[in-house]
Amino acid sequence: MKVKYSYLEEQFADYDEILEKIAAVVKTGDFTLGKEVSKFEDSFASKLGARFGIGVNSGTDALFLSLKAVGVEPGDEVITAANTFIATAGAIAATGATPVYCDITDEYVMDSELIESLITSKTRAIVPVHYAGVPADMDQIVAIADKHKLPIVEDACQAFLAKLNGQCTGTFGATGAFSLHPLKNLNVWGDAGIIVTDDEQLSATLRKLRNHGLRNRDEVDFFGYNSRLDSIQAVVGSHLITSSDWITETRIKWAAQMDRAFSELEGVIQVPERRESKRYVHHLYMVMAHDRDRLMAFLIEKGVDAKIHYPIPLHLQRCSAHLGYQVGDFPVAEKQAHAIITFPIHQHLQKDQVDYMINCVRKFYER
Ligand SMILES: *Cc1c(COP(=O)(O)O)cnc(C)c1O
Repeated sequence: MKVKYSYLEEQFADYDEILEKIAAVVKTGDFTLGKEVSKFEDSFASKLGARFGIGVNSGTDALFLSLKAVGVEPGDEVITAANTFIATAGAIAATGATPVYCDITDEYVMDSELIESLITSKTRAIVPVHYAGVPADMDQIVAIADKHKLPIVEDACQAFLAKLNGQCTGTFGATGAFSLHPLKNLNVWGDAGIIVTDDEQLSATLRKLRNHGLRNRDEVDFFGYNSRLDSIQAVVGSHLITSSDWITETRIKWAAQMDRAFSELEGVIQVPERRESKRYVHHLYMVMAHDRDRLMAFLIEKGVDAKIHYPIPLHLQRCSAHLGYQVGDFPVAEKQAHAIITFPIHQHLQKDQVDYMINCVRKFYER
């Protein structure tokens, strides 16, 4: 049996309906901003319970433009998690600010108890990452940010429809940044991203930042960027958002089955604590495994497309060398880099595939 990581072939086996909707847009010539983009922005924001949605051309830009909008400038410091995808730190670096890494918890999210010790007079923002679809501990992070008057930009790229105490991730901070990359939970046919905010002023600034700083056709308020969400991608997004509850619930269902099975392998597999207050959307299904590298090789040999997200934490990447971090600086992130393993999880998995993955893991440890 094969359990593939990518599900795009199945997801888009029937693409005629989407192509028809795109053809209708092509006929109108409404290719940039315009009706389809506004329609998608509104449905995305309302799905999350946010006031405004601002479509941009990637999740990375959603972070970068958010950081610009809250006032991050060259020379500032921005605190983020040491285990995130490189784009989070890359967006911070692109503003000219320095990423300041924070160690994480066994739930794979920023350890809120460590944040205050990282705040300096140069700190200008905090970027919690809802990694793997796990909501970060926003209660504590919001309290710290408020106390130090720091804006929060949430990296919710992996956490569409994740919730903490019933509130969607991405709606706690000044802004929330989402990616619509083909392998994210809500995806389109290429690169795209979207920002949500409840702040009217920030929404207006972000709309200008993504479109050259233009106030209207003839007047420019400040130098901006070209980071518009394509109308054609907005059509795909609007089509797929209608099935996003099913996508999310299916991922949650398979994760629950794996959680149950793996919790019986205590001692060799560590399932992160699952809290009542959190809705985990399992962008990645990650656990910590004893003898991880050999388990990984075994799974791949058995046709299970397991992966590691990621084997090298950001503070130990070459791109961070000038920041002066050392091995041992972030013990939890480093421990996890050696132990985490990601199983394929998506809405097109079948029950026999989930059973098969679980059996492969059992077999490996019975040897
Ligand atoms: C995917 C991702 C991004 C970047 O999104 P793109 O759309 O690929 O630019 C940023 N942060 C995290 C945590 C991500 O997973």
